[in-house]
Amino acid sequence: MNRPATYLLLTLLLTACVIPSVRSEQSRLRSDSIPDGARRLMEAYPHDVVGYEDNMIIFADGERLIYNDGKSRTTEQMHIEQDVKDIFYQEYDTQRFPPDYGYDPGRYRSAAFFDKIYGRNEAEVISNLVKVAWCPSFGCDSLLFSRQAGAAEALKRVSDELEQHPELREWVIDAQTFCYRNVAGTNRRSPHSYGIAVDISVARSHYWRWSYPHASEYQRISYVNNISLDVVEIFEKHGFIWGGRWYHFDTMHFEYRPEINPPKYMQRVEPRKWETPSALRAIIENLNFDPWRSE
Ligand SMILES: [Zn+2]
Repeated sequence: MNRPATYLLLTLLLTACVIPSVRSEQSRLRSDSIPDGARRLMEAYPHDVVGYEDNMIIFADGERLIYNDGKSRTTEQMHIEQDVKDIFYQEYDTQRFPPDYGYDPGRYRSAAFFDKIYGRNEAEVISNLVKVAWCPSFGCDSLLFSRQAGAAEALKRVSDELEQHPELREWVIDAQTFCYRNVAGTNRRSPHSYGIAVDISVARSHYWRWSYPHASEYQRISYVNNISLDVVEIFEKHGFIWGGRWYHFDTMHFEYRPEINPPKYMQRVEPRKWETPSALRAIIENLNFDPWRSE
């Protein structure tokens, strides 16, 4: 056999051996390489996020959203532009308390992701709002909350548990939820705009921008909190995060974020049949929320 023919034969043999092993490696990677964050989204939003493939998370309606855009950003940049992986920039660790410099777990949100889950504009979000009876035995008013992704269900569970603790009534009687607005001092939509955030006891709360009106994101500030940690514990048990765990503290603020703080136990209960309030627009216009602009 002449030399070129030998090379050709060797090449063919090598190709035959190598290509199948490369292929099997690729398929192994495909099934094993779902990033932890994407997996957590699939667990936390099982009816909405149904898969992951080729760096895209896949929604139940087939729509896809890029998971990792490959850009590295400062924390300040992450407030302006984010990809889905940025949601998981910091772990939500209740032991890391009070929060140290720059620790704001859950404060980085992917607008594209939350738009998709809860509504891309005010009309879409409002169409998903339901009335949740909020601690009725304490004499509280109902709250508007999103029925998407189990949010209203989680809030109802918080309410049910709070009612077992009459000593906590004073902290939760003046709760506020939906308000279509941006986060104070920013162009990004507040989680209150999605109907997934609750502010409690505003008068006794602390918000970093109120305490330090001239501070930048990078300035060192002093932590302060007066909110009862017993209340915090109940919210956190049901998939909410607390703004009091942030260096940029917002101690009145709770937000339904099961992907970074999964409910401590999954109750397999029949989802409630939510009542969609009539005259919703009138209810919303009567919410006097603006003086309390925060996260
Ligand atoms: Zn808030």
